[in-house]
Amino acid sequence: MSLIDEALSANATKSSGYDPARGKPPAPKIAIVTCADPRLSGIEQMLGLAEGDADMIRNFGTVIDDDSIRSLVLSTRLLGSKEIMIINHTDCGMLRFTDGDMESRLRKDTGEAPIAPAKFYSFTDAEANTKEQIQKARSHPWISPDVPVRGFVYDVKTGRLSEVFPDRQTVAR
Ligand SMILES: [Zn+2]
Repeated sequence: MSLIDEALSANATKSSGYDPARGKPPAPKIAIVTCADPRLSGIEQMLGLAEGDADMIRNFGTVIDDDSIRSLVLSTRLLGSKEIMIINHTDCGMLRFTDGDMESRLRKDTGEAPIAPAKFYSFTDAEANTKEQIQKARSHPWISPDVPVRGFVYDVKTGRLSEVFPDRQTVAR
């Protein structure tokens, strides 16, 4: 049985004990941009956030791209999130390749050179990358200056956050 079939079977069982109150409209307090890495899946609990407090925006490499901006604008302007947290992490898979290597490999494997994705957003330094992402979110005209944008690196070995500042040294939290 495929994992999806197993998941469907589990869902049929687990949904019998489902609390319908969990289906009420969301009222998020914070928007969190983080990596799609499964080690970041429990990050709300690691931050002591209640279910429903956070809009989770996840992609490979914690990238503030057009799609993250789209979600951040909607989360803060439409749904009511008051703060933005950008959480990169140690040991990210995006540290293990370069965009150029990946493109060459895919062109070789497929024989094709598509227009998109234009970038994979690989990086070499999680802190430096986080600074860049903070600046991209902070400078967007549709993200209100009243909404704090703070960036962090989550250590997958300790579960601790370090705060990254665009203009000064990182601080362990
Ligand atoms: Zn990652």
